[in-house]
Amino acid sequence: MKNQSIHYLDNSATTQTCPQAADAVMKCLCENYGNPSSLHSKGTEALKVMENARKIIANSLKCSPDCITFTSCATESTNTALIGSAMKYGRKRRKIVTTSIEHSSVNEVCRYLESEGFEIVKVSPDENGEITYQQMLDAVDDDTCLISMMYVNNETGYTLPVEKTFFAVKKFFPHIITHCDCVQAYMKIPVNAKKLNADFISLSGHKVHAPKGIGVLYTAKGIHIRSLIYGGGQERNFRSGTESVPLIAGFGKAVEMQSQNINERYEYISSLKKYLTEKLSELDGISFNSKENALPYITNISVEGIRSEIMLHFLETKDIFISSGSACSKGAKSGVLSQFGINDKNADSALRISLCCDNDKEDIDALVNGIKEGQSKIKRSH
Ligand code: PLP
Repeated sequence: MKNQSIHYLDNSATTQTCPQAADAVMKCLCENYGNPSSLHSKGTEALKVMENARKIIANSLKCSPDCITFTSCATESTNTALIGSAMKYGRKRRKIVTTSIEHSSVNEVCRYLESEGFEIVKVSPDENGEITYQQMLDAVDDDTCLISMMYVNNETGYTLPVEKTFFAVKKFFPHIITHCDCVQAYMKIPVNAKKLNADFISLSGHKVHAPKGIGVLYTAKGIHIRSLIYGGGQERNFRSGTESVPLIAGFGKAVEMQSQNINERYEYISSLKKYLTEKLSELDGISFNSKENALPYITNISVEGIRSEIMLHFLETKDIFISSGSACSKGAKSGVLSQFGINDKNADSALRISLCCDNDKEDIDALVNGIKEGQSKIKRSH
């Protein structure tokens, strides 16, 4: 539901909850408020709502509902997958392989595991700005317990060869546990858990027009790790704590709405991205940090000579909302861009524009005009 008065182009940071998901949350808060573990009918009613959402999300990943665990966010899902796997499978095998362009929810867990004595190997983009499956395969060995690789990079839209990598890893090193951070791919491109060869997948509700505070951890059948949260044994003993049925219902509804037209939305976003690229190319001093074949939902650019936050706040005065990089970095300079060979000056002036289907050409026109105005006004006053 587009808010006509603003231009929100920061959908990789978070999305507006869609009206259908908001209604589902409200209905649950007001009517289906029972505890899903209660034995009476109010409990059963809440359980039914929760299991329906689980089924919808399972269908979207083409997996069985008992592979779906609800968590509070993708960060919790990733912590559970990585720390749980390291504790269970990493007693003898002490190596963890990942990439140098992961989100902090993977990076920081790896940093923690390194302090616990694990060896962390991070594969960087090659001279063409690509992370290849061969590089990943070369990095793993018999001592590796875990590989974690994101599907789509949140700052640039770069799409990693996860399916090919995990297939090769499982073929040559079947003992290695595979985790994929699918947060920026989910509902934008099809994510098929089995085809991906992932033992774990992390998902986040608020990136797909569901509310904040709800995530999913997909766990392949046969994978058993120790839980991080002990208590009442909810979520098949895997994640204790009373489930947030309203948020779960909202997540289910948002996924139900979006699963229907992933390809059509992709086409629409591709056409908007084309328009954005054309319009930006008409301005002086713009360089594109995203690769041409990046996911069209995310475009990273640099505006020569203007620091990211200055332009970001200038645009904000015109009700245009974008990001300087990943929302979690709170304006800090991006390490990811330098991994892609972007120099410090361009990294300092990087802007991330992230689209959703509520956006239209008017938003793009407002943004491009705003940047143009910013280029003349900000430069004049500095
Ligand atoms: N992974 C990626 C790629 C992300 O972009 C984000 C959020 O920005 C996360 C993980 C963390 O998601 P959540 O906010 O649900 O913890």
